[in-house]
Amino acid sequence: MSRILLEANDLKKSFDHINGSITLFSSLNLRVKEGELVALIGPSGSGKSTLLHLFALLDEPSKGKIIVNNQDTKILSNNQKDELRKKNISIIFQDNNLLTDFTAIENVMMPLIIKNENKKIISQKAEKILKSLKIFNRSNHFPSQLSGGEQQRVAIARALIAETKIILADEPTGNLDFKTSKEIFSLFLKLKKLKKTIIFATHNRELANRADYKLFISDGNIKRMNDRK
Ligand code: ADP
Ligand code: MG
Repeated sequence: MSRILLEANDLKKSFDHINGSITLFSSLNLRVKEGELVALIGPSGSGKSTLLHLFALLDEPSKGKIIVNNQDTKILSNNQKDELRKKNISIIFQDNNLLTDFTAIENVMMPLIIKNENKKIISQKAEKILKSLKIFNRSNHFPSQLSGGEQQRVAIARALIAETKIILADEPTGNLDFKTSKEIFSLFLKLKKLKKTIIFATHNRELANRADYKLFISDGNIKRMNDRK
């Protein structure tokens, strides 16, 4: 039996707006195991990004709790959450969030620089990942000099360098052509073989169908669909 790495218990998330509050979900329960490749699908505005942010400990639930790698995160201070995230979770944001004043390779190196690892080793790792994503020739370019798809690949490289157990990806192939999207998906399959847990939000049906299963979020409910096992 594989270990459960991510868990949501009775999770509620509301946002307060001037015209009242909106509740995205009021009692969401979810368990994701080690080595699972999961597609998060659902209409725009259904809460996919919000759920990924909650799992990444970048936002607080209104009720209920998130458990990461057996650690109940509700009781943690912000510093402890940062530590837990750094150790366990990499995130590919929907709007890639690259640092504009740093080159592609510097962006990729950043998660390990923050961890104070050896700079030479970090740069070798970054080169290897950039090569595997076929973006190495753009290493010394700044984000503004790259196309949307190229920026997305740099953001993916940055998420992979820390080699965390959990990878959360918010529409990682949104800016990519179909061929590159399939390459990114193959990379996810390789990571799955390394027992990584990957949850990716997507509107791409074909890629979603190739995940281990789909989580369909809509009208405050989450439903597990199409298990391939
Ligand atoms: P999805 O990623 O599925 O398109 P989101 O999680 O981005 O959906 O958003 C779900 C809903 O929550 C949207 O209606 C959005 O306007 C609202 N929302 C998201 N973040 C905030 C926020 N920080 N403040 C207020 N409303 C928000
Ligand atoms: Mg979104």
